[in-house]
Amino acid sequence: MTARPDGADMRERPRLSFDLDVDICVVGAGLAGLTVALEAARLGASVAVLEGRHVGWNASGHQLGTVMPGFGLPIGELIARIGFEDSRELWSLSKQGADYVRANATEELMPGIALSEGALEVSNVEAGEQLISRLQMLSEHFETDVEGWQVDRVRDQLKTDRYFHGVYYPKAFQIDGRKYVHGLAALARRAGARIFEDTPVVSFDASGIRKRIVTPSARLRASHIVLAGNIHLGEPLRRLSETLLPVWRYAAVTAPLGERLAEVVTFQGSVTDTDGVDHFRIVDGDRLMWASPETTWAAKPERFAGPIARRIRTIFPRLGTTEIAEVWGGAVGQTVHGMPQIGQLRRGLWVTSGFGRQGLNTSAMAGQLIARSILWGDERWRLFSPFELVWAGGPTGRVAGHLVGMWGRGSSAAAGALARHRERARARERIREARLLEANRQAGTRPPRRPTPPVRPRHERPRPPVQTEPGEGEGGLS
Ligand SMILES: Cc1cc2nc3c(=O)[nH]c(=O)nc-3n(C[C@H](O)[C@H](O)[C@H](O)COP(=O)(O)OP(=O)(O)OC[C@H]3O[C@@H](n4cnc5c(N)ncnc54)[C@H](O)[C@@H]3O)c2cc1C
Repeated sequence: MTARPDGADMRERPRLSFDLDVDICVVGAGLAGLTVALEAARLGASVAVLEGRHVGWNASGHQLGTVMPGFGLPIGELIARIGFEDSRELWSLSKQGADYVRANATEELMPGIALSEGALEVSNVEAGEQLISRLQMLSEHFETDVEGWQVDRVRDQLKTDRYFHGVYYPKAFQIDGRKYVHGLAALARRAGARIFEDTPVVSFDASGIRKRIVTPSARLRASHIVLAGNIHLGEPLRRLSETLLPVWRYAAVTAPLGERLAEVVTFQGSVTDTDGVDHFRIVDGDRLMWASPETTWAAKPERFAGPIARRIRTIFPRLGTTEIAEVWGGAVGQTVHGMPQIGQLRRGLWVTSGFGRQGLNTSAMAGQLIARSILWGDERWRLFSPFELVWAGGPTGRVAGHLVGMWGRGSSAAAGALARHRERARARERIREARLLEANRQAGTRPPRRPTPPVRPRHERPRPPVQTEPGEGEGGLS
């Protein structure tokens, strides 16, 4: 799926063909596994990373590189579940995860990483009041830098009537996602970790003090095993894989769009919508990189070139037809509760997984927590204990998950259409009133007084329709 590393890197990451004894064995060389490896090696442990395919083979080598604070789970739900104080602690850890990525993603450590600042989360519906309360919550209680953007400001930078208000995160940033995962591997190796590709873990025995790990061509012994295999972990611990709902997400980059792109999109950071449908940004000056469609089964990414081009046109009709230059996809693991799986399953057996669509800051945070717990006894990973390993329902759950996803997207599309309809109706009403005023002025008459609607007793008033809360995906990504 992703570009293979060059020959030099390949020689440095061979298949494991001899038996080995280490302090920590990490299963999986995605963002999660590599961050644990880097941190543990920096703290002085001997580390081996076993990767069944190659570094960044799945989602980690196919993400869009947007780094924001927070989790996939909306902040309100987080507070409802674990209370205000623990939510603040978790939120602060998620910000530290983003800081960790920033500290690694320098041109010096990762040449060509192309870090740029700022992300904008836009609402598909009019959500002024919810926006204000969210801004207050994030800035006052969660110490996060945010700015509220009015509709005009959003539409000044994104020429579409699809988006309304926005929340701007000046300290969020974006990087070249593929370069980051290979950069992490290089840093981990430089810190002393050994990375073996083409080395699937087929089973392990975690019962003793020294754990045993089996691969087709060699055996390992380690004091700690860290499972960072995401949805592909498979046989070594199938029950763990089944706590994740796999969701394949597809993304594309357009051919150069020339000046027409600058006429329509001037915002240079990442844009996500609050319903988690679209996620895009400008790359290489005049191309759009865009993630949108999802499936709960593995499909060929090329199938989504047409749908992504149509989606771009739906949001930005003024762009006209766009040619898609490259399409790719990767599978993210969603948990039932929406929070990542971070912690110790039994003595010396760790899990770091389930990062969903927001894996950069959260996997960085998890890597630090686990490495520090193993080597320093830092117990903060226990903040994640309320989020247990819940069975995601296997194939039946996946179909249900897909239907729920479709329903969510369908209802958000309907809410967006309704909001645009209301906006057009209000504009028509304003024009009609202006014409009426002008006609009255010319005729020298005063406008007729509008009849006051009769006040109905409270119990007779119609109840407002139940609406889904817009703005419920703070910090959420594609
Ligand atoms: C299109 C797309 C866009 C995204 N954009 C963003 C974004 O902008 N920002 C953001 O924060 N997140 C984004 N994400 C989400 C992010 O990519 C993921 O959350 C993150 O990469 C998950 O990392 P991981 O290491 O847990 O899993 P993976 O990347 O799946 O890595 C797990 C690795 O473990 C290996 N493995 C599994 N089982 C075994 C075994 N038994 N033996 C050996 N190896 C094994 C696999 O081969 C794999 O390489 C995006 C995802 C997609 C698909």
